[in-house]
Amino acid sequence: MKLKKILLYLGALIVFAIIVLVIYMFPFYHFFFTSESTVIDKNLTMVSGAGNSGILVTDSAVVVIDTKMFSLAKDLYKMAKEKAGSKKIIVINTHLHGDHTNGNHLYNGSKIYIGGYDPAFVKKEMKPENRPTDFVTDSLILNLGDETVAMYNMGQAHTFDDMVVYLRNRKLLFSGDLVFNKINPALIRPNGTDIDKWKAMLNLLPTRLDIKTVIPGHGKAGGPEMIAALSQYFSDMQAAASTRGKVRETKARYNDWMKMPLMSSPQKTIDFIRSK
Ligand SMILES: [Zn+2]
Repeated sequence: MKLKKILLYLGALIVFAIIVLVIYMFPFYHFFFTSESTVIDKNLTMVSGAGNSGILVTDSAVVVIDTKMFSLAKDLYKMAKEKAGSKKIIVINTHLHGDHTNGNHLYNGSKIYIGGYDPAFVKKEMKPENRPTDFVTDSLILNLGDETVAMYNMGQAHTFDDMVVYLRNRKLLFSGDLVFNKINPALIRPNGTDIDKWKAMLNLLPTRLDIKTVIPGHGKAGGPEMIAALSQYFSDMQAAASTRGKVRETKARYNDWMKMPLMSSPQKTIDFIRSK
């Protein structure tokens, strides 16, 4: 009898824990895995879900920026293929994380560009079918008729070799995960995350490029102010990490920035800085 009661309590506790977990995780997963297309202009579509992707139609080719994961990758590929018709598709990966590259295998035969990572690192982190074909160690400019697509390897920040894609005529930047818009950024040290270098990059970007629109790695598209906002976030978290009594007030200031369950939060950022 007693054992039965204990088991009943235990069962109730597990159900309760699952409900709490679902309530805690759901808003993020709903955001992360819901895909939405935004028409930036008639030849440029932003597709959210996993990471933000772009499909750019030019005179001579269709460019796909970041290929997503799971079924979102297949939906994106279908959309790109439809827009491309008989034009070739060129793929650009802003960095090697799976939410930006796991759809690469669908573009068999296409050129797939990524930053100039160490080949051993790519081999370790990416499945053979998703590995890019071309590595951009510095920069690469593609003149595609009505748009010039510039890839700049920004070096180490979020990962070891983050690349941004700048559409020169549109003054539009695909920042990859160098910019999270109002989302606590993912910090993964073994992948190369370095906050000081990241911050320097964020401060440098607007001085080097004339940016009107930013499509961040995650979060809504907007103006270049989101670049400065993330740099400020890092400065504030660094100050909080090293100053007694500042943590609570700093966290409160970023209450409206989304946390990624088990992955990112103001506390995780502060812990990351302290564990240097
Ligand atoms: Zn990433």
